[in-house]
This record gives sequence, structure tokens and C-alpha cells, in this order.
Amino acid sequence: MRRQLIAGNWKMHGSKEMTSELINGIANGLGHVSGANNFDVLVCPSSVYLSIASGLVSETSVKLGAQNVNANEQGAFTGEISLPMLAEIGCQYVLLGHSERRELFGETNGQVAEKFSACVALDFTVTPVLCIGETLEQRQQERTNAVLSEQLDAVLEVTGIAGFAKAVIAYEPVWAIGTGETATPEQAQNAHEFIRNKLAEHDQDIAQQTRILYGGSMKPTNALELLSQADIDGGLIGGASLQAESFLGICKAAAQIGIA
Ligand code: PEP
Repeated sequence: MRRQLIAGNWKMHGSKEMTSELINGIANGLGHVSGANNFDVLVCPSSVYLSIASGLVSETSVKLGAQNVNANEQGAFTGEISLPMLAEIGCQYVLLGHSERRELFGETNGQVAEKFSACVALDFTVTPVLCIGETLEQRQQERTNAVLSEQLDAVLEVTGIAGFAKAVIAYEPVWAIGTGETATPEQAQNAHEFIRNKLAEHDQDIAQQTRILYGGSMKPTNALELLSQADIDGGLIGGASLQAESFLGICKAAAQIGIA
């Protein structure tokens, strides 16, 4: 059975104070959630606060992730951060190809695949969370599955299916990110099923074990319904991850499913 993963993407929000308040609030709150051992919790603060966050999560069950990485191991890449650096400060996960990086910073499928491949080359010391999803226009043109295929194929071509052995995928319809508009459980399940079937064309076992998270305006009020879908194995949460109370509300939904 796949363990649910509830991940918070803090984006470019926060401060030293917020980092410690939020991590302590989440860790303490999880202590009061029955079934909290049945799912994983991940926070992805801004890279500036990763070192501080690493110390704060070390005595807790909360895992730490970065929001981006450079595919190169080291070198003259001003302003960039490498995987060995992330690993050294205690990051276990890294988000790759978030739609904001694709849209605002022009990240291509090819560049995302290089970053993914770098995680594989480092033997998954830092687990990639590959973000994929269609824009509103692409959905309206009924190109959702074609877009998801392209985004997955770009990675499959570089790493093969073995690259997904320990990876996480986040399906994030771009039109649902930060908009308050959520995919219906049915829309989300259909996309997740499509992604899993696509992996299964290459390897059944890997397809069955890969966690596929949903992201796009998930909140305590819609989490249970989304997380109950057969192929949804957790959430990648933006806005609602910035307050311990709302993030914990989503964690409680995951706990309910873990217990059921
Ligand atoms: C995200 O940024 O990955 C995200 C899902 O944001 P939000 O929850 O705010 O829609």
C-alpha cells in the first residue's frame, strides 16, 4: 500500500520566525493527530531557510524538501544550488518543474528531465517530486492527457522507467494553483489514473508503488474527498501550507484515510 505524503510548498514566503513557528506548530500538532504515523509530512521552505529548517525538523517526523535545484553537481553557476548541497543540509526531497518555474522562469521539459536525472545519478539521496499538469487552455482543448504524456516522456527518455523507482509525481493542474479553484475529485482521479497507467506501460510494479500527489487549492474542506480517490496518494499544498492549522487540517484527512 502506498503511504500518503502531505507536502507544503511555501514558495517565496516566510522569515526565520515563521519557519520556526510553522515547523514547531506542525510538529506539535501532528503529536495530537491519531494515525499520524501512517502518512508522511514534508515541508519545502525557501532555500534561504533550509538550514534553519533542517535543525528544526531533525527531532521530528517532518521531512524537509527544497523547491528547486540545479542539475549540475558544482561549478560556475552563480545563484544556483546543487543536489549535494541540498543533501548535505538534510533535504530529503526536491520539487522539480513546478508550474511557476515552468511559466515564470521558462523551465523546459528537457531541463526538468536533467534535474530529475541528476537525482537518479545521486541514487535518490534527494527524492525528486516531479510536478506536471495542464493549463486551462490545454484542458479546454482536451489536451490534458497529451500534455501529461509529453511531460512524463521527457523524463522517461532520459532516465527510463527505473528513474521513477523512488520518485514522487505531483499532478498539479495549472488552472487550480493558487486560484481557489480545485479540480473535482473525478477530474483529479482521471488524471492520476492516466499517469499511473502510463507508468504501468513500462513497469507495473513501479506504477503501483509510485506516489502521485494532487496539487491545486487543496484545503481542509476538500482534502478528504480528494485524498480518498484510488490513485491520489497525498497532496502538494501551497496557500494552505502557510498556516499550521490549515496544513494540519489536511494532515487529519490523510490520517483518516490511513486508518480506514
Ligand atoms: C502549489 O503551488 O503547488 C499549489 C498547489 O498551490 P495552492 O495550494 O495554493 O493552489
